[in-house]
Amino acid sequence: MPLLPCPFCSATVDVPASRAGSEIACPSCGKMIPVPKLGELRKLQSQSAESAAKPPASSTATGQRTAFALLMAIAAIAIVGASYCVVRYAAIEVPATSEDHIAEIEQLYSQMPDAQLVREWQEMEDFSPELASPYVYQLVAEEKSRWLRNALIGFAIAAVSGVIAFLSLSLGRTKD
Ligand SMILES: [Zn+2]
Repeated sequence: MPLLPCPFCSATVDVPASRAGSEIACPSCGKMIPVPKLGELRKLQSQSAESAAKPPASSTATGQRTAFALLMAIAAIAIVGASYCVVRYAAIEVPATSEDHIAEIEQLYSQMPDAQLVREWQEMEDFSPELASPYVYQLVAEEKSRWLRNALIGFAIAAVSGVIAFLSLSLGRTKD
């Protein structure tokens, strides 16, 4: 039944559709309230039906909370994974950098007699010095940078899912 607010007191009155266009006595203050025509009465009815249908909105709120919890769980897992990568990254010690290696070679050549330098040069020209396999320090450095990259990816995933989680939460708040 549509609810009609009494213009004389704050009570709301249940109005049967049969009373449309006539008057009804307010059960609270006893005054006669003019009842609107059927079309307007139906509008009132749909409004009160809307307010009655509010509870399902809270179920979307729990859905948002679930999504938030899920995203935060993903963020937490990503942070744990990234932290593990940081630990692995920090644990790896690169034996020597390329600069150290070059310095080593330079020192070696500076100590060489001229005749031997010429021979070395000729050998290099004959077998162009293409390295079949990279040096150990290069492999270690590559592994180290891989852990760093994985850590950065992990932190990025954590940041993105955290931001989405809080965005979904604040979007849900503004909707209410
Ligand atoms: Zn009244």
